[in-house]
Amino acid sequence: MKAGARQGDVEIMKIKQLPECLFGRHLRDAHGVRFRDDMAFSRCVGCRVAMVKVQGRWRPVGRSPLWQYLALAALLLLLAFGLQRWYAAAHPKHDIVVFVGDSITEGVAASDPLTTSRPGRYQVHAGNDVIVANEGVNGITLGSLAGLVSLKDYYQSGRRNVVVLGGGSNDFAQNAKAIPLFKTLQDYAMRLKDDGWIVGVGTVMARNGLPPEQERERLAFNRMIVHGPLKSQGIAVLDFDAEHRAGRVPLADGVHPTDAGYAGMSKLDVAFVDKALEKH
Ligand SMILES: [Zn+2]
Repeated sequence: MKAGARQGDVEIMKIKQLPECLFGRHLRDAHGVRFRDDMAFSRCVGCRVAMVKVQGRWRPVGRSPLWQYLALAALLLLLAFGLQRWYAAAHPKHDIVVFVGDSITEGVAASDPLTTSRPGRYQVHAGNDVIVANEGVNGITLGSLAGLVSLKDYYQSGRRNVVVLGGGSNDFAQNAKAIPLFKTLQDYAMRLKDDGWIVGVGTVMARNGLPPEQERERLAFNRMIVHGPLKSQGIAVLDFDAEHRAGRVPLADGVHPTDAGYAGMSKLDVAFVDKALEKH
């Protein structure tokens, strides 16, 4: 056998043996045996610890070196850490609800958006068992939302992922038409649903200063949400406009609800999200 090939075999043996060494199971190097005073000595193939043959069995001389204990401890720590990380990733503890929309989601005009906006109210209602995120952006249109907010960073498998989607008020203030805007909403909602989200969408409430032709588009849009194909596609509908018409969502400034108005809207949020999370 050529020297080079033999050297390669030794390296492979050493790599195979080293993990055994960690557990104290050493292997004497058969090629390195020396005799002295009728006793056979060698070294471990893996870790090179000195070994001696006693009553027919090879044993390491003295105790295993300290590094073996340290390496073993480090290996066990790494294993425990890895298991813990794996378990946490596979079993996320808390369900999540993301509120996506414009200033009426953000909570403009609420006395304390952290607790009296709609996301704030749901957090107070659910407590710390549920993660609530407020992705409301003042002034944003539904068209922009659908293009910008993918929610991919929020989604985790192994828990319930719920989104409450509200938007359109700013679109109608910018001359949007009902049919293309509904298509945008439907595509966005279906995309989220396909990504694993439980989706609820809200109707658009009246706002002061909307010209009559835009008011007609808003009403047509709401009819498509309430009576159109969304529900049969597994999308929940939160009819905020009906609550507003019934006087349960008073406005502070002609566009944004008062605290009492947000409380009125929040009842629909709570009914939808609690059902999605199977809390009742
Ligand atoms: Zn060894």
